[in-house]
Order: sequence, then C-alpha cells, then structure tokens
Amino acid sequence: MATLSTDVLVIGGGATGAGVAWDSALRGFDVILVDRLDLAEGTSGRFHGLLHSGGRYAVKDPKAAVECIEENRILRSVAADCIEDTGGFFVTTPWDDPAYADRFAEGCKATGVDCEEIDVAQALREEPRLNPDVSRVFRVPDANIDIWKTVWSMARGAQSRGARILPYHAAVAIHRDGDDVTGAHVRDDRTGQELDIEARVTVNAAGAWAGQIADMAGIEGVRVLPGRGIMIAMNHRLVNTVVNRCQMPTDGDIIVPIRTVSVIGTTDEHTDDPDDHTVIESEVDAMLDDGEKLVPGFRHQRALRVWTGVRPLFEDAKADNTETRDVTRAHALLDHAQRDGVKRFVTITGGKVTTFRLMAEETVDAVCKQLGEPRPCTTRTEPLPGSEERRHYRIGDRLEAKEERLTDDQLICECELIRRSTLEETMRRRASTNLDDIRRQVRLGMGPCQGGFCIYRATGILHGLDGLSAEEANGALLGFLQERWKGVWPVLYGDQLRQARLDDWIFQGVLGVEHLR
Ligand SMILES: Cc1cc2nc3c(=O)[nH]c(=O)nc-3n(C[C@H](O)[C@H](O)[C@H](O)COP(=O)(O)OP(=O)(O)OC[C@H]3O[C@@H](n4cnc5c(N)ncnc54)[C@H](O)[C@@H]3O)c2cc1C
Repeated sequence: MATLSTDVLVIGGGATGAGVAWDSALRGFDVILVDRLDLAEGTSGRFHGLLHSGGRYAVKDPKAAVECIEENRILRSVAADCIEDTGGFFVTTPWDDPAYADRFAEGCKATGVDCEEIDVAQALREEPRLNPDVSRVFRVPDANIDIWKTVWSMARGAQSRGARILPYHAAVAIHRDGDDVTGAHVRDDRTGQELDIEARVTVNAAGAWAGQIADMAGIEGVRVLPGRGIMIAMNHRLVNTVVNRCQMPTDGDIIVPIRTVSVIGTTDEHTDDPDDHTVIESEVDAMLDDGEKLVPGFRHQRALRVWTGVRPLFEDAKADNTETRDVTRAHALLDHAQRDGVKRFVTITGGKVTTFRLMAEETVDAVCKQLGEPRPCTTRTEPLPGSEERRHYRIGDRLEAKEERLTDDQLICECELIRRSTLEETMRRRASTNLDDIRRQVRLGMGPCQGGFCIYRATGILHGLDGLSAEEANGALLGFLQERWKGVWPVLYGDQLRQARLDDWIFQGVLGVEHLR
C-alpha cells in the first residue's frame, strides 16, 4: 500500500477545507486535501448561493453580522470572479411585523452592515415583480457566490503551489500514536485503492460529518447536529437583486438570483443523518407559498428542481472545558491538544460559506501553533486564481463570449450557454468520466431542460475525448439522468411536467436509455 507524507492533511473538500488547503499552501506548507466525494459536493455545493451582507443576522446575532460584512468585503476583492454583485433588499411585506424594520436598521448600524432605506417606488422600478404591497425597503450589499468556482479556484491555486488534491478519497481511519494524531487511512472510492497519509497536522474540515471524523480519532463529544434545509430553483431570474423578508430569520424568506435561476429557501429541520436528503412535499408547498409573499405569481412560475443541504450545527458536549460557546450558527474551532490532550489534530466546523475564509485563517493559525511555526496569513489580500483582475462575474459574460465566436464554436448547452470548446477543455482538465463532476464545473444541464437537450451531446463529446468504452459512456449518461431526476420529481407540475415528459420521450422513447448498460 502506498504511503504519502505531508505537513497538513485536510479531510473535507467543501468551502472550509478548500479554504484551509489554499491558506496552508500560501503559507508554504505541503498539503493534501481529501474528500469522500467530489469537491464541494457536501453542504457547500448544496447551499442557497448567498454571500451574506450580515443583514440577516443584524438583530438576532450581531457577532455573525459583523463577521459576514467583514468577510463579504474581503471576498468581493479576493474572489471577485466568483461573485455577482446583485445587491440585496430587505423588504417589509404585509405578513411581517412592521416594528422589526426599525430594529433591523439599528442592528445594521450597530454591526457595520451598510444599509440604506429606499423608496418603495424606487425598489419596484428596480424589481418590477416585487410584491407592490411592501411597506419599507432597505438596500444592503448581499450578493451571490458561485461556490464550485470558488472551491476549485482555491484547490487549483493550492495545487499550483504543490498541494495534492484527492477527490473521491474517503478517510476511513485516523491514525493515532499515543496522544498524537499522525495522519489517516484513505480509500479511493472509484478504484478501491487504499492509501496511508502521514501528516504533521490533520485538519478535520468535514462539516456535518466532523463528529464522525473526530470519533475515528477516538475523540468524544464533538457533536454536529445536522439541520436539513430545502431550496427550490425557479427557471429564470424572477428578481435580479437578492430579496429578503425584513423579519426574524425563518423559512422561505430569501430569494437569491444566481446565474440563470432564482433560488428560494430555506427550511431548517433537525435530522440524525448528515446524508439525509429527504424532500417532504408539504415543505415544497410551503416554500412556494412563501415565494408568493415576495413575488406575487411565484407559484405559477416554473420550478426546476428541489434539493436539500445539511447545516453543520455544532454543539460541544465539553463546552465547559473550552472557549467554544454553544454557538449554533457560528463556527467552532477545536484545538484538540487544548481540548482533549490529543495533539496534531484540529477540527473546524459550523459557520457559513460567507465566513469560510475567516474559518480557514483561524484553523491554519492553530496548525501553525501546533507546529510551533508561526507563518502569517495572506488570504485577505491574495486573489484567488481567476480573480486577479478583481472584476465581478456578470450575468451577460457567457453570452458576450459566445457572440465573439458565433459560428465556429458549437453551443452544447443552450440553457447555460456552454460552448463546445469550454466543455472539452473542462473535460480534459477534470479527467473525470462522471458527467455530474463536469456539471459542477460549468453548470452543464442545470437550466430549464435539466439536461434534456444537452446531455446526450455532452456524453458523445466525453466519449470521443476520453476514449471511454461505450459501456462507460452509457453509464455516465444514465448516472447523470438519475441524479437530475432526484431533484425534478418533487416539483413536477405545469410547464416543468411537460418538459420532463419531453425529456422522457427523448431518452426513453428515442434513445432507449433503459436498455443501455
Ligand atoms: C440549506 C442551507 C442553505 C445555506 N445557505 C447558505 C448561504 O446562502 N450562504 C452561506 O454563507 N451559507 C449558507 N449555508 C451554510 C453553508 O452552506 C455551510 O456552513 C458550509 O457550506 C459548510 O462548509 P464546509 O466546508 O464546512 O462543509 P461541507 O461543504 O459539507 O464540506 C465537508 C466535506 O467533508 C466531506 N467528508 C465527509 N466525510 C468524509 C470522510 N470520511 N472523508 C473525506 N471527506 C469527508 C464531505 O463530502 C464534504 O464535502 C447554508 C446551509 C444550508 C444547509
């Protein structure tokens, strides 16, 4: 069995783990990052898409609000290309307590969240679909963030500094030598190959699964309570600004426009299993009703798909022994040398995508402390690869690029404007036979047809490029269709039902995919 050695082993390739890998690599450490799935396929790839301004927490959790606005400003600069500057509104609808609006404005002032009250008429000019019965509107610097782009930019940036990035490698055991954690045993889920990784420090960045990794290391009481939330993507941008209800945070109170869709969310239900992705019909119904309160007619728009994510809500059974407060939505950094007398092992969990950089900075500071090697953090100022020009992503960018090459570059995915050259380059770079991996890179099949018109083309291209066998190519196509179906069936009504029927005719009637093996 092969053995790899490194300074820092990071377990978990979500926003937090990728952030730790990027930060460690920038500080000159040798890094290995492992994830049991593809990068950002855990909660990070299943979130709502919002780069918080802090407004949501301005009344309820001022500390979180301060962290969000500070990180919002930093990420706008260092991860500019991953962010679309949509701006955000907090609006008082007829269902909201009107007294909350003044508390909201005061909370924003106290926490430094930029907030300006604007005329309702002005808000309606900017967002004509907004409920005309809103009574007050505040403008805040909310934005959307493309998490797959962000995570892969950090992973590639770390890789260019020598890091080894190993998706589909699950940690199956944590090695202990007395009071020291010395690394982990990992298994490549695609090939079954096993590896030992020796590390000077191991970082547990496994989000909602962090308790499982701590258990493997023989550490008790790291309880991460998974909180399941659903989100629904609507087929186009019903709003171009993030719209939040101006009330205490609750279910279904935010619509985030991101790329070609708008996403409404979310719920928060306790579950015992971080891999629980149950979608409950009544939750879907309630979410569509909530949409009506912000955008009348929401229910009659076309819903594309539903998915769930699981929040890592940290509850420390040893809270009395540490400085960590029982801060559900805040992040928790556990230095196990201090907390449990187990050296060379650090856990980081909880938090938000918006605060991943800060979480990574604090974690790598703890790593430096464990190693006795103080090295300064530079992620506040160092741009992610692709963001060097500090220019935000704009919704028209793909159309502009396509118009430059109107006739000599085929369009493979019409919904997401993916050109053949982009797809081929991505397939070569990822060297993956899993079309879902490619989807996360370029948003393949994520628009209204949910892959109905593009995925057989993409399969043919993958087949041609990689020299896959016909069976492997068929398997890739079937795998993709099955994944898409999971999110489509809970919202089969109206136009999307007609679309699903058409897709079904194409794949089962014309292509006979059921017989592909
Ligand atoms: C419904 C919902 C909506 C949200 N919306 C927002 C939002 O709009 N804005 C915002 O800022 N935050 C939002 N959040 C919070 C945010 O998504 C999470 O806090 C964040 O994604 C957690 O990132 P992470 O990297 O810590 O965890 P994850 O992204 O879950 O990463 C952990 C990784 O560990 C891997 N792993 C698990 N076990 C193993 C193992 N044995 N070996 C190797 N790898 C393993 C998993 O595969 C996973 O990729 C939302 C959360 C939810 C649930």
